[in-house]
Amino acid sequence: MTTDELVVSGLSVNYGGVRAVRSVSFTVGPGQCVGIIGANGAGKTSTLKALMGLVPRTATEIRYGDRDLMKVKARDVVRHGIGYVPEGRHVFPGLTVEKNLLLGAYVRKWNSETRKTLREVVDLFPVLGEMRHRLAGALSGGQQQMLAVGRALMSNPRLVLLDEPSMGLSPKLIEDILAALQRLREAGHALLLVEQNAKLTFEATKTCFVMENGEVAMTGTSEELSRDPRVRQIYLGL
Ligand code: ATP
Repeated sequence: MTTDELVVSGLSVNYGGVRAVRSVSFTVGPGQCVGIIGANGAGKTSTLKALMGLVPRTATEIRYGDRDLMKVKARDVVRHGIGYVPEGRHVFPGLTVEKNLLLGAYVRKWNSETRKTLREVVDLFPVLGEMRHRLAGALSGGQQQMLAVGRALMSNPRLVLLDEPSMGLSPKLIEDILAALQRLREAGHALLLVEQNAKLTFEATKTCFVMENGEVAMTGTSEELSRDPRVRQIYLGL
């Protein structure tokens, strides 16, 4: 068995009568960057929430390394090396940037290692260091997105789940987010990136799958998918 591999098999999510995710299976290897693209309502967010234990789910298997995530409570998933950047950022607007970051380290003791992580996060997003005493609610959308990613990194995850980090951002800020994802990859983090922005996803990932109506409709390398005529028409608008 490979260490730190995320294995998802037969994952389904039902909200009452709504079948949001239908028997989805995929893997994310150590240091691998996998994308999930799809339209509104395709089931992407529900897939990430299900991995974090935040919505009722059924599955044949959800395993991370040797850990059976079906048996791990939502509040403990982060302790097993998985970080989560939710859709819509959800930073704490009334707390300073620094406090938001420190809250991300809630599963760790405050020591030289955590301080090192804080330095790495500020190195990745220098604006967070410059604004550390400002209230998070006073930041721009792009800065809040960086804070949301930085906060997730404070738990020192090996796998980071990101839900639409480009949402509402200008092309320049999307470039900044892409650069940050590239650096996370180079630092050895595995990434699972959910996006409606297929172009960004193809640039940021090696492997992708397309979700439609809760199912995996297509899968392949990002390069292959970006050349697929159907993907080009529906998801790239070409
Ligand atoms: P988006 O890009 O808009 O976030 P998505 O691909 O992430 O879309 P989901 O948010 O996972 O899709 O939603 C999948 C389906 O589940 C949709 O039909 C949605 O309306 C439904 N759904 C999501 N959350 C709930 C909920 N809490 N209760 C009932 N239905 C829900």
